[in-house]
Amino acid sequence: MNKKKHIAILGSTGSIGTQALDVIRANGNVFAVEVLTAGSNADLLIKQAIEFNPNAVVIADETKYPQVKEALQPHDIKVYAGTKAIAEVVEMDSIDLVLTAIVGYAGLESTIAAIKSGKQIALANKETLVVAGELVTALAKEKGVNLYPVDSEHSAIFQCLAGEFHNPIEKIYLTASGGPFRGKDKAFLETVKKEQALKHPNWDMGAKITIDSASLMNKGLEVIEAKWLFGLKAEQIDVIVHPQSIVHSIVQFVDGSMKAQMGLPDMKLPIQYALGYPDRIKSDFPRFSFINYPQLTFEQADTKTFRNLALAFQAMNKGGNAPCVLNAANEVAVEAFLKDKVGFLQMSDIVEQCLQTVAFISKPGYTDYVETDKETRRVASLML
Ligand code: NDP
Ligand code: MG
Repeated sequence: MNKKKHIAILGSTGSIGTQALDVIRANGNVFAVEVLTAGSNADLLIKQAIEFNPNAVVIADETKYPQVKEALQPHDIKVYAGTKAIAEVVEMDSIDLVLTAIVGYAGLESTIAAIKSGKQIALANKETLVVAGELVTALAKEKGVNLYPVDSEHSAIFQCLAGEFHNPIEKIYLTASGGPFRGKDKAFLETVKKEQALKHPNWDMGAKITIDSASLMNKGLEVIEAKWLFGLKAEQIDVIVHPQSIVHSIVQFVDGSMKAQMGLPDMKLPIQYALGYPDRIKSDFPRFSFINYPQLTFEQADTKTFRNLALAFQAMNKGGNAPCVLNAANEVAVEAFLKDKVGFLQMSDIVEQCLQTVAFISKPGYTDYVETDKETRRVASLML
């Protein structure tokens, strides 16, 4: 039998992280946990570490270090703290694959560090590719590192491409559920509160991506993610709203043939595919029934009401540091919305204003991204 795949999970206490551990728990003969990291949820990190017995854990919030250290001392698990430690721990020789499941720009540094040390990547942190897609994909190519998509749409495209990697893509269709406010108008959106936005019809996810899904920014970020993952031009990427979230995305080849990947909306499936690639592992995930879904429907996205999707296309077409500005402005806007400091529609205003205000850099390097992120957060904060 092959040796077990040793996995580092960055962001193990989040929605993707905990579901990845469910997959690993069910497949202990295939996977072993090498590293776990969390932001500040020390209690859950400790519980996970005791169950999965990793080599090391990192808690980003340094004030929680004594608690984690004390709890894991008897278990002979190395404990580190701070953001820098996450970027260092991914270099461990014993790691085969790093699952990047930290949310937002905070995931960039550790993803780059993992690629630099030649680790294969299961990529959930889409913001990494939005902020620095050119740099990250070039680095991955140089280091011979594969980026296996975890995002369900990108996993779908990747699954459709299996056996077809030499065939050019004509275009892809990324499906979008439309979120909880599909079909609503601006007057309605003016009044919505976070409690409504946090109720996603099909997926149970972390707070940030759930708000992004309601505002269609998530689909905008995914368009940019797809551009870099699959080397596409803007005109090769289309978004189609599919409220049932059964068809996870579609590839159209140059002969006009289309391939789609389907299944019930369950993130464990794309997570398992990314961790197990190239093998499909037998699972007991609930199966799709045509009888329960007599109709699968598709419609145009409303980019006039949900302006974030149009803004993302705009930033992608502009290139340079514009997607980095888009991302940072959106992170500030979402956080403010979650704290009831701005309204739902104001989030797009903040993003648009930042795209107009923050200085454009056509060929940014890593430090330009760091500076752009910082400057955009400053500009966006002035609008709260
Ligand atoms: P969650 O908010 O549920 O989890 C985020 C994880 O990152 C937690 O472990 C959190 O720790 C940790 N974290 C947060 N901030 C920091 C920080 N500054 N430094 C270090 N660690 C930090 O997010 P999700 O799991 O929903 O999403 C993770 C990523 O996956 C996102 O980029 C998202 O876009 C992407 N994704 C998620 C999907 C989903 O279904 N959830 C689907 C497709 C993509 P703590 O718990 O301690 O705060
Ligand atoms: Mg997705």
